[in-house]
Amino acid sequence: MKTVQDYIRTIVDFPHEGIMFRDVTTLFADPRGFRMAIDQMLHPYAGIDIDKVVGLEARGFILGGAIAHQLSVGFVPIRKKGKLPGTTISQEYTLEYGEAIVEIHDDAIQAGEKILVVDDLLATGGTAEAGIKLIERLGGEILSCAFIIDLPELGGRAKLEAMGMDVHALCA
Ligand code: 5GP
Repeated sequence: MKTVQDYIRTIVDFPHEGIMFRDVTTLFADPRGFRMAIDQMLHPYAGIDIDKVVGLEARGFILGGAIAHQLSVGFVPIRKKGKLPGTTISQEYTLEYGEAIVEIHDDAIQAGEKILVVDDLLATGGTAEAGIKLIERLGGEILSCAFIIDLPELGGRAKLEAMGMDVHALCA
């Protein structure tokens, strides 16, 4: 039987030379693969109360939307700067080359709400860390961070665990 990993392809030299890009569109496009990924991402949270799912742009929206629907809870997007129409708060973070800013609507999370953070891939952890900071600034309580792929050699898991986060991933 195929595993989630079997549906993910690697594109060499994307977006630039030397990068082995994990392409999850082939997983999302397959009905068995996509359902398997959502079911397995949900598995650690059976019986746990979650108030909202927060997805990180852009593939975290696809996964987070499906997970929120399955849990019958709301979904909140964290987007790149300038994309959200309402009043936002911002968080800067460092990329391989330069810096980026992510934003969340300032009324999207109420203090004390229990949050599951979702994205497709954890690499250096910079994107997830910025998202976590935004959620915590609004008073959200992060229960866990869920990914399909963790690349532990890039240090993201260690970074998030050092922040006290619970981290789950389906494959490396
Ligand atoms: P980090 O901030 O942990 O270094 O990078 C993770 C972010 O970059 C995630 O939002 C993820 O979607 C994106 N990303 C980085 N490398 C890859 C990759 O090889 N494949 C995919 N699908 N996303 C990647």
